[in-house]
Amino acid sequence: MPIYNEVTLAKELIKFPSITPIDAGVMKFLEKKLSVLGFKCKILEFKEKNTKPVKNLYAKFGKKRPNFCFAGHLDVVPPGNIKDWTVDPFKPKIVKKYLIGRGANDMKSSVASFVSAVSKFLATNKKFQGSISLLITGDEEGIAVNGTKKVIEYLKKNKEKIDFCLVGEPTNQNKLGEMMKIGRRGSITGYLTVSGVQGHVAYPHDANNPTPVMVKILNQIENIKLDNGNKNFQPSNLEIV
Ligand SMILES: [Zn+2]
Repeated sequence: MPIYNEVTLAKELIKFPSITPIDAGVMKFLEKKLSVLGFKCKILEFKEKNTKPVKNLYAKFGKKRPNFCFAGHLDVVPPGNIKDWTVDPFKPKIVKKYLIGRGANDMKSSVASFVSAVSKFLATNKKFQGSISLLITGDEEGIAVNGTKKVIEYLKKNKEKIDFCLVGEPTNQNKLGEMMKIGRRGSITGYLTVSGVQGHVAYPHDANNPTPVMVKILNQIENIKLDNGNKNFQPSNLEIV
């Protein structure tokens, strides 16, 4: 059974230009790596109406509970202007001890670390209580309707249970290993529309400019204290975008 090096594997994953919802073959690549370790893999493709199809992967080693799941994604955001990069985003390079490439931070390195850790664990632990799974989506950076949500529905239907889950989203702001989060913030999005009456800037009394009204409303809601947070999380915040 092979032992995978996390840096080598991260570089291999970064080479795939898997910009949501394009998979570029990365799921198949990961499936192969996991199959060699003895994982049973299933590539799940979902396509909600008016969206592009997205590939996801659910891989499992063992059948017993508890089922410990590593959750993550292999899609990345577009690289933007390639000329602004110091390194080709899809030809990763280590520069001054930093791995540079699209998805090096969010979050192909995490997926590589999952697989590397599992390969090391299985090499020395032939028998253990429980099972290990990986739930890897290709729809996290996009509209996220054909990703984890759909996989969870699929798992429910198949009476597949996840007992513990480790998400590999980038968490440490300064240094790797400085923190581990034990939960996740929720979010709610609202839309504010203010209607006015158009007019000329020189005749404001004939117009009803919605912009200052919006400024007043936003000022008020910005000052609402949502909660005090708790010992593990900072208070909830409102962001105007
Ligand atoms: Zn991410």
